[in-house]
Amino acid sequence: MLESVLIANRGEIACRIIRTARRLGLRTIAVHSDADAEAPFVAMADEAYRIGPAPAAESYLRIDAILEAAQRSHAASIHPGYGFLSERAEFAEACAAAGIVFVGPPASAIRAMGLKDAAKALVEKAGVPVVPGYHGERQQPDFLRQKAYEIGYPVLIKAVAGGGGKGMRRVDKQTDFDAALESAQREASSAFGDPRVLVEKYVLSPRHVEVQVFADTHGNVVHLFERDCSLQRRHQKVIEEAPAPGITAEVREAMGRAAVEAARAVGYAGAGTVEFIADGREGLKADRFYFMEMNTRLQVEHPVTEEITGLDLVELQFRVAAGERLPFAQEDLAINGHAVEARLYAEDPEKGFLPSTGRLWALRLPEGDGVRIDTGVEEGGTVTPFYDPMIAKVIAHGATRDEALDRLSQALASTLVAGPKTNARFLRALADAEGFRAGAFDTGFIDRNLEELGAVVRTADPAAIAAAALALVDREAARVADAAVARGEALASPWWADDGFQLVGRRATGLPLAVDGERLDVLLSFEDGAARIGIPDRPLAEGEHDVTLVEAGEAMIAVADGRQVQVALHDPFAVDLDHLGDASGIVKSPMHGKVVMVAVAAGDRVEKGQRVAVVEAMKMEHALVAPVAGTVAEVAAEAGQQVGEGARIVLIEADA
Ligand code: ADP
Ligand code: ADP
Ligand code: MG
Repeated sequence: MLESVLIANRGEIACRIIRTARRLGLRTIAVHSDADAEAPFVAMADEAYRIGPAPAAESYLRIDAILEAAQRSHAASIHPGYGFLSERAEFAEACAAAGIVFVGPPASAIRAMGLKDAAKALVEKAGVPVVPGYHGERQQPDFLRQKAYEIGYPVLIKAVAGGGGKGMRRVDKQTDFDAALESAQREASSAFGDPRVLVEKYVLSPRHVEVQVFADTHGNVVHLFERDCSLQRRHQKVIEEAPAPGITAEVREAMGRAAVEAARAVGYAGAGTVEFIADGREGLKADRFYFMEMNTRLQVEHPVTEEITGLDLVELQFRVAAGERLPFAQEDLAINGHAVEARLYAEDPEKGFLPSTGRLWALRLPEGDGVRIDTGVEEGGTVTPFYDPMIAKVIAHGATRDEALDRLSQALASTLVAGPKTNARFLRALADAEGFRAGAFDTGFIDRNLEELGAVVRTADPAAIAAAALALVDREAARVADAAVARGEALASPWWADDGFQLVGRRATGLPLAVDGERLDVLLSFEDGAARIGIPDRPLAEGEHDVTLVEAGEAMIAVADGRQVQVALHDPFAVDLDHLGDASGIVKSPMHGKVVMVAVAAGDRVEKGQRVAVVEAMKMEHALVAPVAGTVAEVAAEAGQQVGEGARIVLIEADA
């Protein structure tokens, strides 16, 4: 076995790899950016080396800095995890040149599968079915539009260098083609440094079914069955499971064979995933699935395969990298039960799933029979805007699919996060959703059911606001009392006088709050010695959910039914920017990111809802639209500029 491993990654997957490496007796070496100096994976590793500042381009993507750390620490091998450098052939080559074992496939296999167009052409030759489309060199808009017409709408434009669902646009009709192409190319350039796209048929009722393959360096290739990853948003996986609901032995066998062929075609070694898109209109059929791409690395959702096979895929990766033979043949492998994984993200489903960053004031992850948590953050840590905002993978296993989903649902219900908003409640709704439970779903399921799944704008729970406000009032009272005691005075806090609220000589007073950053005036009253909060126009409904309160510095976070609201006593001296409101026509950046384009200039007329700028954050584009119709009074940012959360981008003077 290898003596040591340097993990060229961070977060959850770095922790995951360290766990197995340690069990196998390998010395573990972490590398980290400045933003991760205090991260759990750094503390977990035997050694840790700083490789640069927070932005990934200056740290986790720097081959030279990582190799230098590998040399200093005498690392015998490098595990790239997923994302970052995991699918960069030059990285695998640089490791080899430095005499370090790369825990992954040969550089030639990474390169062969690296571009979707070339990969499709290659596996097609090996007899693997591919999605019909144009995957040639020509990139002129007129030419591609013509191809799209020949393929027949709907079509999908895809970045050939794409990954993570980026640089992809579905187009339903010819008149939308040019705009979609432009935007896909722009996103592809900025995310992958390569604007080239392919155009393919959009498969109807699509099911994403992928096959885990494993190969050793002695010519053995097997598959570890399939995973269904059809629950997606913006072409990114949300919930994954194994086996695929409704798959027959015949389809499994056909897909498995095709996946093994694809791996053989590129001389594969190690863990890989062959992704297929299946036309699910009549269930999964042996002649209706098509190769999409091969991911030449460990996949985010590998735990569901581990749960149903009882194998440790990271251990197998190390064994193959060390030159060992696969310890089993295809016929030795069997499926045990059902497993499902949900990606718990710091994002707000009620605000278009916008990533949500900040300190994790509370983090309680579930435990229980058949429940596994893979995480890389801890209570008190921070979700930064620099990397993927995943908090944890919640994985559940059961004898049957229903048992696995019940366990997942239960686990999500007992998950508590305070600070960044999360998708926990949304994931739970998904795990319980009728159509999903019935196995009647495709990749459009989430988009079609956003409302039922609770991914809609909702006002904060008044009971939660009231509970948080009361806690703040109590804390203020306690502070006043403590200060009085410290001065040697008798307890004379007006809050505690049992004849009512004395401060302003009335039994009730207005109390200005900041609720999720927006001002809300509530009524504070005292009755029978107890303080009460009344919220004008928002009666407290009966049968409210339990409220959990978490202190967040000067603020208080109330969590009820998986939803959070952050309440602070309003600071009258702070500039109340939010109060200027959208009606005033300020277009602000919703988060820390980069302006990729500004579509308007001062003096332009805009309609309400018109796109005025695009901000890229977390490698995704967010269109900013005009909140009002009017005239552009000011453009305060330009393309290429980094902007902070809340930064003013455009000012629109509303029509009178
Ligand atoms: P796919 O590429 O098929 O969407 P996955 O769902 O496994 O595969 O991963 C989504 C993409 O996002 C991948 O490119 C993965 O490497 C990347 N990714 C996901 N989470 C992280 C993370 N925490 N750090 C870096 N990259 C990540
Ligand atoms: P990425 O590298 O971003 O993972 P993929 O080619 O794997 O790109 O596609 C991502 C997702 O987009 C798939 O999981 C699937 O949901 C959807 N998709 C891709 N190709 C098609 C297609 N031809 N028809 C319908 N949906 C597709
Ligand atoms: Mg993919």
